[in-house]
Amino acid sequence: MDPGSTPKNYDPVKKDATKQKQKPRWCKDCLAYKPPRAHHCSVCNKCILRMDHHCPWLNNCIGHKNHPHFIRFLGSVSFASTYGVALICMRIWYVISYQNQMNTYFRGQVDYKFNVHYTPVFTDSQIFSLLFVVIVFFALLFTVGILTLWQLWYVSRNVSTIESFEMNTIDDMKRRGQIPKEKRFPYDLGVYRNFQAMFGDNMPFWWFPKTSKGDGVHFEVDPEIENEWPPREYYLYKKYPNGKPSKADQAELRRYKHHRRGSEGYLVKQLTPEEREALVNNPPKQAVEEEYISSTDYDSLYSEEEVEENSDEESLMARQRRITKTE
Ligand SMILES: [Zn+2]
Ligand SMILES: [Zn+2]
Repeated sequence: MDPGSTPKNYDPVKKDATKQKQKPRWCKDCLAYKPPRAHHCSVCNKCILRMDHHCPWLNNCIGHKNHPHFIRFLGSVSFASTYGVALICMRIWYVISYQNQMNTYFRGQVDYKFNVHYTPVFTDSQIFSLLFVVIVFFALLFTVGILTLWQLWYVSRNVSTIESFEMNTIDDMKRRGQIPKEKRFPYDLGVYRNFQAMFGDNMPFWWFPKTSKGDGVHFEVDPEIENEWPPREYYLYKKYPNGKPSKADQAELRRYKHHRRGSEGYLVKQLTPEEREALVNNPPKQAVEEEYISSTDYDSLYSEEEVEENSDEESLMARQRRITKTE
């Protein structure tokens, strides 16, 4: 299902100028405004509303509209594999106890409570397939089950996977005193209301296939928290991890704005159209004139006079001399 992308008419500057606490964000790739909590997905090549992550298994982004479906899907897989593991473990337990009872029986110690209420497996291949399915179910349970718990933990705090990564960086920055401790995550409304934001207001209907609450552009915030999120300091840190350069350094950096590193690490200058035109009109003189004549460069073998020589009347000796001289 579509994870939800930026609405065509979304313009936070025009419409939400009064409501918007946050400075509008701009997506360089979409050339459009980016709603709060949205992120640009380089695989889908568009901005995804309240993006969680791009899922390579589903070949789709998980965002505002399909996030609850995704969690219900993970929950179903975890439940089904738990159920499967339980059934098969019971079956294996029956097989073992059947063998024990048979041993008792054949030793002559007749057990009158001997009561078989199942079809035991007998062949090696049946036992092998039982074990195989147990391993598959355990692997599923281990991977998807952990992901389910992880996602539920995120839902309880109303953070997306991307936001939780951002939050780790922001917490580190708070510890280093780069961000004031008062700045808090504004979307956390308390566990129950966070679950409502994801699965809807009515708890009995949480398992029903519905998209999450709201339009994915406006989000309910804790009224006590005034700060924007992520804090500006975080964006500055992302842009300048080693601190913002001084005015002089910035001017120096601007001089190299049109320079980049080539694939082999050389500094490559990207020319402006004016510079390119100047180069075409005034090409730099080549330092070394190449005199090498390629053996496949047939035209250069015959100058105009030589073409005259190269006639039927030319003697074989003269022709050989001429070719040796050219070489
Ligand atoms: Zn974008
Ligand atoms: Zn994507």
